[in-house]
Amino acid sequence: MHGVFKDIMGHERQKALISSILKKERVPHAFLFSGLEGIGKKTFAISIARKLLCQTGEDCGFCRSCMKVKKLTHPDLLVLDHQYLEWATSLHGKKNLKENGEQIKEVSSISIDFIRGNEEKKIKGINEEVIRHPHEGKKRIIIIDNIENLTNDAANAFLKTLEEPPDYNMFFLITSREGDVPVTIKSRCVKVLFNPLPQDLIKGYFMNTLEVEEKRADLISSISQGSIGNGIFWLEDKNLEIRRILGELILGKKKSHVLITLVSEHIAKGNRECSIFIGFLLSLFRDMFMIKKMDNASCVINKDFAEVIENSVYNLEWIEASIKKIKETAVIMKYNINKWLMFENLLYNIMG
Ligand SMILES: [Zn+2]
Repeated sequence: MHGVFKDIMGHERQKALISSILKKERVPHAFLFSGLEGIGKKTFAISIARKLLCQTGEDCGFCRSCMKVKKLTHPDLLVLDHQYLEWATSLHGKKNLKENGEQIKEVSSISIDFIRGNEEKKIKGINEEVIRHPHEGKKRIIIIDNIENLTNDAANAFLKTLEEPPDYNMFFLITSREGDVPVTIKSRCVKVLFNPLPQDLIKGYFMNTLEVEEKRADLISSISQGSIGNGIFWLEDKNLEIRRILGELILGKKKSHVLITLVSEHIAKGNRECSIFIGFLLSLFRDMFMIKKMDNASCVINKDFAEVIENSVYNLEWIEASIKKIKETAVIMKYNINKWLMFENLLYNIMG
C-alpha cells in the first residue's frame, strides 16, 4: 500500500482499516462513508479509486490512470456529486438554477434518471453502467455523494444493483446525514465512520499548506468544527464578513432590516451556505451559554466574539430558546424551498 492516502490529512484509523480490507481475498463491494460535511470523505474515496485504478497498483500519482482520476475523467470512475448533478441538469435546459426554487430542489435530489438512465436527457444510468466491463482496468469505482438525497424511486431502483453488482464494481456511498439514508441501503454497505479533524491539524494545514497567517489560521481552525471544507469556506473574505455582521446583529441585539435581508440573501444561496451559517449560529449561542451559565470561556469556539459576550448581559432563557429555534429551523430547512425567507424569519425570531 505504499503511497496510498499520501494526500489525505488525518483519518489514520480509517486509512488503516481500508488498507487492511483492500488486502483481503474477498473485498466488500459497497462502503458507506459517514461523517460531518467537508471532512474529506469524498477525497478519501477518490484516493482509493486512484490506488485501485493505478497502472502500477501503487497510487503512483503519475501514470495515465492516476492523472485521469485526478481530473475525474477516468472512464472507470463515476462520481455522482453535486457538480455532476448540476451539470446533468443544466444539459437539458434548466438554467437559472439559483432563481427558481423548484429547480434547486431538483438538482439536490438524486432522481431515478441517474440510476436507470435517461436517453432524452443524455444521462447515463448507474444500473446500465455497472453491467459493462470496465473500459481500461479491472475495476470500476462508483462514488455517490450525499446518498441520502436519493429519491424513493431511485433508492428502490438502486437496491438490486447494490446487492449483486458484477464483481468488478465497487461502490462508495457518502453521507453527512446518515439518519436520512434508507436502512435498506445502509444494510448492504460496510460502514466507515469519519470523525472531525483535530483543531491543531487544521491550523497546521492552513498555516503550512495554504500559508495563512497564524492569527487567522487560529480563528479559522477554531470555527471550522473539524472540517477542512468548512475552513476553506471561511477563508473567503465575503463569508467571514457575513459571519461578522451576523454575530454583531445577534450580540448587539440591534435589528437592522437592511442587514438582515442582506445576510439572509447571501446565506440562502446554497445548501452549503445554509448549513455552515446555521452551524455558526448554534456555536455562537453555545458560546454564550458556556460563558454566561457555565462561566467557562476556555472552550469558546468563536474567540473573536468572546470579549463582547463576556462584557454583555444576556438572558439565559433567550439563549436556550434561540438554540431550540435554530435546531428546529435546521430540520425544516432541508425540506423548505424558500431558504431566504426561512433564514430571515429565524433571525427575527432569535433576535428577541
Ligand atoms: Zn498511477
